[in-house]
Amino acid sequence: MSLSSACPLCAGRRHVPLASVDRDRNPLRNVLCQGCGLVFVDPQPTREALDAWYTQNYRLDYKGVLEPKPHHVLRAGRVAIDRLARIRPLLLGAPRVLDVGSGGGEMLYMLTHLAGTRAEGLEPNLGYARHARERLGLPVHVGTIDQLGQMSDTFDLVTIHHVLEHLPHPREAMALLSARLRPGGHLVVEVPNVEATCQAPAHTFHRAHLTTWGIPTLERLGIECGLTPVSAATSPDGGNIDVVFVRDGARPLPADLAPARTAGYADHVAQVFARHTPLRHYASPAVPRRLFSRLARSVDERIACRRASDPRALLDALVAAARGTVAFRGLASSAV
Ligand SMILES: [Zn+2]
Repeated sequence: MSLSSACPLCAGRRHVPLASVDRDRNPLRNVLCQGCGLVFVDPQPTREALDAWYTQNYRLDYKGVLEPKPHHVLRAGRVAIDRLARIRPLLLGAPRVLDVGSGGGEMLYMLTHLAGTRAEGLEPNLGYARHARERLGLPVHVGTIDQLGQMSDTFDLVTIHHVLEHLPHPREAMALLSARLRPGGHLVVEVPNVEATCQAPAHTFHRAHLTTWGIPTLERLGIECGLTPVSAATSPDGGNIDVVFVRDGARPLPADLAPARTAGYADHVAQVFARHTPLRHYASPAVPRRLFSRLARSVDERIACRRASDPRALLDALVAAARGTVAFRGLASSAV
């Protein structure tokens, strides 16, 4: 048991070490908070260093590119369609939407052209934001999540996928997101799942992920920021979780209910990690299945990108295929 950094969720200082290296075998200490079950990097990097990295070099370090390549666009477009299908009821009536961490703009493209929403994005990376604006013609603000504090507009729906885990100040970020919702508006948060076992144990921690969440810890954060969780789901491979919150101005949940959400969760997470051994992992039939599906995906992407490599043409083909399916029938889609 160590007693150093305060937990970003519950401010507790009792935590146990889970790992001392990241997935590339570089030093990175991740700890499990005994108070709430949040896993976080200890010590946390400074905010200045992170802002500079995300603005300039993050995508280059992560994917080796300054702008998305055709197969990135195709994959992200397909993921965006799956995400929209899951939140279909929130897309009715042409809502005003903000996508935070909009990346190359694939989610925004689908929100606009497939779901017919009025959508705009916020993205800190200059190359990806430029790609979304210039190649896809999308309204994207360039800036970090802190920029939400300077906005006065409110939205019917705010989406944030795989961003929260990168931020050194998740509580401030959640409060900023909450403040951008109109009363009755919804927030969709997707992050990697702390209980994921689809990856090899040695591949669990990425240096860019400063916190790792489970449904109870994420719900607690939302409640403490004035939001009410309305649904939560785990992806089929268990790798990701998403929670939908509503900003119920008339009947907010009392914040003192929040700690009860994470009661006993630290013990549960500790058990998940203890059971996730290399032997158990590599003996699982899910491992070859996952390898095969990745290989099949890669071949399929290569074929599709050979037919069309322009990002707009790739996304338009996905829109055309998805339009008319059950998930998107009846939504106010605009003409591509
Ligand atoms: Zn904690």
